[in-house]
Amino acid sequence: MRRKTLRFRVGLASTLSILIFGAVVGGYFVHKEYRYRLAAVESEIKKSASFLVPQASMLLIQNDDAAYLTFSRAVERIVSKSNFSYVEVVDTKGRVKVPLDTMGAQKAHTEGIEEGPWASLAMGQDHLIKERQYPGQGKVIEGVFGVLEQDRILGYVILGASKKPIEDALRRSMLATAAFLLGAMVLSIILSLKFAQVAAEPVERLKDAVENFKTSEDLELFNIEGSREVSVLASSMRNALSKIQSHKEEMEHSIGAIKASEGKIKHELKVISDSFRKLSKHLKLEDAVATILEDIARAIVYCHEAYLILKVGEDGAETGKLTVYPRSRASQKDLVPQELMERVLKKGDLEYIHGNKNSAVIYPIYSGARVPLGVLVLAMSTDAKFDADELAALSGVMEPIGMAFDRIFLHEQVERLAVHDSMTGLLNHQNVRERLAEALKAAQRQQKTVYIVMADLDKFKAVNDTYGHPAGDKVIKAFAGLIQRSLRAGAFAGRYGGEEFLVSLGQSDLEEAQNFAERIQKEVRGMSVEVEKGKNIKFTVSMGLSAFPMDGSTLDELVENADGALYRAKQEGRDRFVIRNGEPKRLKIV
Ligand code: GH3
Ligand code: MG
Ligand code: MG
Repeated sequence: MRRKTLRFRVGLASTLSILIFGAVVGGYFVHKEYRYRLAAVESEIKKSASFLVPQASMLLIQNDDAAYLTFSRAVERIVSKSNFSYVEVVDTKGRVKVPLDTMGAQKAHTEGIEEGPWASLAMGQDHLIKERQYPGQGKVIEGVFGVLEQDRILGYVILGASKKPIEDALRRSMLATAAFLLGAMVLSIILSLKFAQVAAEPVERLKDAVENFKTSEDLELFNIEGSREVSVLASSMRNALSKIQSHKEEMEHSIGAIKASEGKIKHELKVISDSFRKLSKHLKLEDAVATILEDIARAIVYCHEAYLILKVGEDGAETGKLTVYPRSRASQKDLVPQELMERVLKKGDLEYIHGNKNSAVIYPIYSGARVPLGVLVLAMSTDAKFDADELAALSGVMEPIGMAFDRIFLHEQVERLAVHDSMTGLLNHQNVRERLAEALKAAQRQQKTVYIVMADLDKFKAVNDTYGHPAGDKVIKAFAGLIQRSLRAGAFAGRYGGEEFLVSLGQSDLEEAQNFAERIQKEVRGMSVEVEKGKNIKFTVSMGLSAFPMDGSTLDELVENADGALYRAKQEGRDRFVIRNGEPKRLKIV
């Protein structure tokens, strides 16, 4: 449809231009021929008049038969050669002297003699040639020539030539031109249709090719022959499109590759992100690590072992040693060397190592505040076809792992702060009382005895005064550590005051209580604390013991009683223990 419209337009445009051109040129030549024929008649009239006027002068002056005869002969000669409709000689009154009237027009001549052309002739012009139309006649070209005798006008010679031959010739010319134009028009329509086809077709094919290219991508479509411009256009379009096509193919290829690996990585990252969701339930480092390792090993199929090496403990503080997870890992001998681990942590990026039997990829793990925590190691057999992109993508997971650890560390720290004394790691005042209250309730239910110990370091002010407060702190920590190590199952200890400790020995008898106190005091005596470089000091401790329910049926009573016993031990000279303050309520001391 569009194709036809284009051809029609090209055809119409060329036909119209040929028509306009033909009409203008044809019209010009027809007009020129008309003018030429008119001029030829006029010149014939003038030539004849120049011959007739002297004869007419004689005739008008002499006005006799001889003159008339001479004039008639002259007229005959002219008429024999030229085709005049009429030749007349009239005097100034309009009287016709010699009429050679083939048109019977003399009446009109005489009527008009006083006006128009006659009048202007009378005013000195010697002739006038004009087109005239007499009633009932065709058009004539009429020449009126004055006959003069020494500036006196005697009469006029009038020659009339019919205009019909000129008009006929004009008609013929116009017909011929029109016929020519018609022919030219038909020819031009045919030619321009043909031309339109030839000129428009390659362009249309090019257009079609461009449209088809969107769907078929066939570059052969662009092998279009046509005018030079069209061919050049087609071939440069072909080149451009082939470049685009090859880029497109490259892009599609890499998009495909990206999509494929993205799909794979997405799947794996999903497994790991699910793992993080599970992770949020874990508040213990060991559980969290187990989850991470298990899920990573599941996501990365060719990884035959995943393990973590952490420099930090449960609370995120450096432990000074390395802990390997899972704790159950059978052999520690093929671990990643510590220098390598430090290097990776320093570099901040994963590192591959290729061994003989195994390859491994090592990821550094940092806390949210970029504190190095340790590394995650994925071990793979050397011939495993691991995917470098995928392993690199896994780097992105290390940050959330570090952050998950942070959360666990924070939880651990908060828990400890809330329950434990930050300096000694023992339970704090509040918590040791809570635990003791619970222990007493249980003992009451089970009808069991519970011994508690209140311990206070001796002359501690002196330690502070002599060696300074930090030295005092070291002594407090050392003693707390000793207590912690000495606790058996079911026992617990808390820092009750500055250098005062409360120990619950759990369900126990007097003997156990005595043994505990003796053992502690003995160990303290053998201990020395390095308070500054090269300076070791010794210290002692006093204790008061009381038993539930004999020395107090409530927590406060029980603690008060132990405090009283402690006071007595201090009074009795320190570095000793006293069992209960006062008599037992119901039970006898054995
Ligand atoms: P005593 O044998 O009678 O117990 O004599 P003492 O000097 O130990 O007397 P007391 O137990 O009343 O004094 C406790 C002192 O321990 C007071 C304080 O300066 C010190 N102290 C308490 N808490 C801390 C602590 O956390 N660090 C250090 N360095 N000193 C502490
Ligand atoms: Mg003291
Ligand atoms: Mg004290």
